[in-house]
Amino acid sequence: MPSEQKKESPTDTVSHFFDVAAKQLDLSEEICQTLIKPYREITVEVPLRRNNGQLDLYTGYRVQHNGSRGPYKGGMRFHPTADIEDVRALAALMTWKTALVNIPFGGAKGGVTCNALELERNELERLTRIFTSKISLILGPQRDIPAPDMGTDAQVMAWMMDEYGKRHGHTPEIVTGKPIELGGSIGRNEATGHGTSVIITEAISDFNLSCDKVVIQGFGNVGSHAALYLEKMGAKIIAISDYYGAIHNPNGLPIQELFQYAAERRPLTDYDDADQISNQEILELECDLLIPAAIGGVITGENANRIQASAIFEAANSPTTISGEQVLANRGIPVFPDILVNAGGVIVSYFEWVQNIQQFRWDANRVEKEMKEILVKAYKNVSEIHKSKGISLRTAAFMVGVSRVAKSTELRGYLT
Ligand code: GLU
Repeated sequence: MPSEQKKESPTDTVSHFFDVAAKQLDLSEEICQTLIKPYREITVEVPLRRNNGQLDLYTGYRVQHNGSRGPYKGGMRFHPTADIEDVRALAALMTWKTALVNIPFGGAKGGVTCNALELERNELERLTRIFTSKISLILGPQRDIPAPDMGTDAQVMAWMMDEYGKRHGHTPEIVTGKPIELGGSIGRNEATGHGTSVIITEAISDFNLSCDKVVIQGFGNVGSHAALYLEKMGAKIIAISDYYGAIHNPNGLPIQELFQYAAERRPLTDYDDADQISNQEILELECDLLIPAAIGGVITGENANRIQASAIFEAANSPTTISGEQVLANRGIPVFPDILVNAGGVIVSYFEWVQNIQQFRWDANRVEKEMKEILVKAYKNVSEIHKSKGISLRTAAFMVGVSRVAKSTELRGYLT
């Protein structure tokens, strides 16, 4: 196990969780090696002429991890942390996520190492178009279908679709998470946060949890929608945070009002009726439910001892490191894993792709009903394995995902 001195890389973390599940499943060394390595990785140079005349050189990536169950699927991240290491780990997570919820996709991830917040809108558009055109030869509605992730949104997907369409003709099913006007699905924008609330609802009755004190790190697309749905369910959100800092009020925060702040790109720290704390401190508040919904690697062997939550729900991808997970396990704090908690996003992406292919529209009720069905089924499956085998929720979730991918890999004859 890597020591806390040596920083645990995202790939170490995801590979470790894979290894633990593979051991439980008794998979051979041969198949483990096949499953862990990505199928294809591409790195491209993305030169961008800034509005001030300067030429900046960015690097972009797309990693296609495993496609044995269907086309590669996963988000595009425009973020300073999005390097090849990060993208590779996140691509593997997508493989286990799509398999866990049993939708017919493989796993991929991509991104550009940049700070999208520092770019003007027209610079972001140019960056998106250059990046898309450079990777478009490995994309395709039956090959690889991008979606939004950190630093990207529906508008970025619209530019990607348009850029791809210049070579291939009108192809809405090339990306998901598009604006509804261009063939996006109703409910896709809210889906990751909505799905988080669905999993929390199941867990509250299953694990006898309370939602009187909820803490959410991150108030972007995922955190803000999770907060809205949880508030509607009657939960009290006592702390939230954004890029600039965190706010805490033990009497509860007005989520609807603060949602407007996010929409207007105003920092949450502008809000007066709360204490201002740091993005580190927010993780250590005493609470019922802690929901990391921002960047990865925030719960570590260093701070996990100070966490005072009854349960953790990973709305972010890979927020817990290996040693963080071990400390929490020793302390008996259940961690509901990312590949289950945040799967609502890719599930509604699947619905969007299906609607585009059929040239047909679903209404909000159908999207919600079918998403819930898939999530609840996956939740029950994971909870049942966790209880019957006495293993962590994460290992149970990985076991379901990994065993499905192992089976399809074998059936396709990749090992003969
Ligand atoms: N970026 C999201 C995730 O990490 C969604 C991916 C998708 O919809 O393809 O699950």
